[in-house]
Amino acid sequence: MKVTNAEFIISAVGPDQYPVDALPEIALAGRSNVGKSSLINRMINRKNLARTSSTPGKTQHMNYYRINEALYFVDFPGYGYAKVSKTQRAAWGKMIEKYMLERQTLKLVLMVVDLRHPPTKDDVMMYDWLQHYDIPICVVATKADKIPKSRWQKHVKQMKESLLLRNTDLFVMFSSELGVGKEELWAVIQSFTEN
Ligand code: GDP
Repeated sequence: MKVTNAEFIISAVGPDQYPVDALPEIALAGRSNVGKSSLINRMINRKNLARTSSTPGKTQHMNYYRINEALYFVDFPGYGYAKVSKTQRAAWGKMIEKYMLERQTLKLVLMVVDLRHPPTKDDVMMYDWLQHYDIPICVVATKADKIPKSRWQKHVKQMKESLLLRNTDLFVMFSSELGVGKEELWAVIQSFTEN
């Protein structure tokens, strides 16, 4: 996919602020600091459109990025950030749940996990929850460059087993640093956004 245009549109705090142009939306879910912003930047060949920071939990809103005037990436608040209050976490949970269940234009959720480590409890819960509601989902295991290539397949296998993925479930190994998985992920996204 050739990205010719990518724009930050809005940091939405609620449904009134979601775009109304009905373009397909690809949501990104994952724990704080897992690499969601870096993944977006890599997918659109921009260093810094989606803010990456070493302070986890900074992204507390739903950030909308419009790509090629054809689709949106919707970056969700990262989950599992310890320094966030219970009340705030519950509020995010509600916002995410409502969006996932009611947003007509949502086509696919990218669940971003860290290839180096087993999925967290939050990752497993999120995956089960999305599956339960039949929401299309692709697991993206990022930071592949942080482990030697010779161990990639072992980690992929462990990740798939921990999440109880079947062979038909979508999974992409990724590295924002190297660009590994970029074209494969675009192909998956396009299969959900083009009809
Ligand atoms: P977010 O909180 O999920 O948006 O995470 P960020 O994209 O801000 O990434 C958190 C940290 O991990 C940053 O320091 C990134 O540079 C780093 N990071 C993200 N993806 C990768 C990757 O694929 N490889 C490497 N080596 N570092 C990454």
